[in-house]
Amino acid sequence: MDVHRTASHGWIEVITGSMFSGKSEELIRRLRRAQIARQHVQIFKPLVDNRFSEDHIVSHSDMRLASENVAGSSQLLERVRPETDVIGIDEGQFFDAQLPAVCDRLAGKGKRVIVAGLDTDYLGRPFEPMPQLLAIAEYITKTLAICVVCGGPANHTQRLVVNADRVLVGASGLYEARCRHCFDPSLASEPQP
Ligand code: ADP
Ligand code: ZN
Repeated sequence: MDVHRTASHGWIEVITGSMFSGKSEELIRRLRRAQIARQHVQIFKPLVDNRFSEDHIVSHSDMRLASENVAGSSQLLERVRPETDVIGIDEGQFFDAQLPAVCDRLAGKGKRVIVAGLDTDYLGRPFEPMPQLLAIAEYITKTLAICVVCGGPANHTQRLVVNADRVLVGASGLYEARCRHCFDPSLASEPQP
């Protein structure tokens, strides 16, 4: 028997925090459970993030799930199939400003939409479009890493190289998790003359 799907079943979940805080692990855990329950799951990531794999979302602990690359949120919307129950989106901060509206529309159609993404950038500034997504989500999970300097709760992504690009894709060697006391955004900026 077909499951009765009504629009009231849709909602948005956001998993957010610094790099290495376990966002991808948590996203993969939720999506695996949905797959085990034989729900129709589609998983997307933005084209910009090809660090580990072209066609998988991958955690730093090497958990992985097959995914589809999309150029942006409008392509994501086009790719969603009518029978899909659950939509997983990784690296939400690399999407365009329309991502919250697209998630809202999908939730309105009865989909469970789960988005993982960084809440702040390498300077500690809110990383759009995640703040807008947090504002409209039903459920928010804030994940924390462990500060590699002091062992405290790490809410920040410390960039270890001098580079002023907001998007600089990479992991160990380029970034580490730090707490608010050990975070030093000036490490990523050119020294002032
Ligand atoms: P995120 O998606 O938030 O970047 P992942 O889910 O990809 O995080 O990876 C989380 C994993 O990163 C942890 O289970 C652990 O194996 C590893 N890790 C590396 N550095 C740290 C750290 N400083 N604190 C916690 N976990 C870390
Ligand atoms: Zn610290």
